[in-house]
Amino acid sequence: MRQKKIATIRKTLVNKLEHLWSNARQTRTTMKNAEGTLADPFDLAAMESNKYVELACRDRERVLMLDIQETILRIDHGVYGICDSCARGIDEKRLLIEPMSKFCTQCQEEKEMSLKRRNACWGVKGMSYSHV
Ligand SMILES: [Zn+2]
Repeated sequence: MRQKKIATIRKTLVNKLEHLWSNARQTRTTMKNAEGTLADPFDLAAMESNKYVELACRDRERVLMLDIQETILRIDHGVYGICDSCARGIDEKRLLIEPMSKFCTQCQEEKEMSLKRRNACWGVKGMSYSHV
């Protein structure tokens, strides 16, 4: 992949990362400001529920931020676009669609098949269990 395209991907990732950081800071500020302002137990319960949903969303974003940071490091260390499993180059089209791909299409498919087989195995075990 040409350096110009990689630089564009990096810039997009940095912008996305900054946006996520901004969201995280905003959530922290909002939660801090809301603490202790409600006396009604129903309002408190609703706030706690909202807080839980908000934190679950932020947790997903935290994982995304780690993936983005890792991808930026790969770019900076010149190993971007190299498959983690077989060390072959990852197809450019794949990287343009999924810029944080760590595996080539073939290795990704093998990984997913392996995961499906493992899950299917667990499913069969679960179904064979009977309440006699
Ligand atoms: Zn591979």
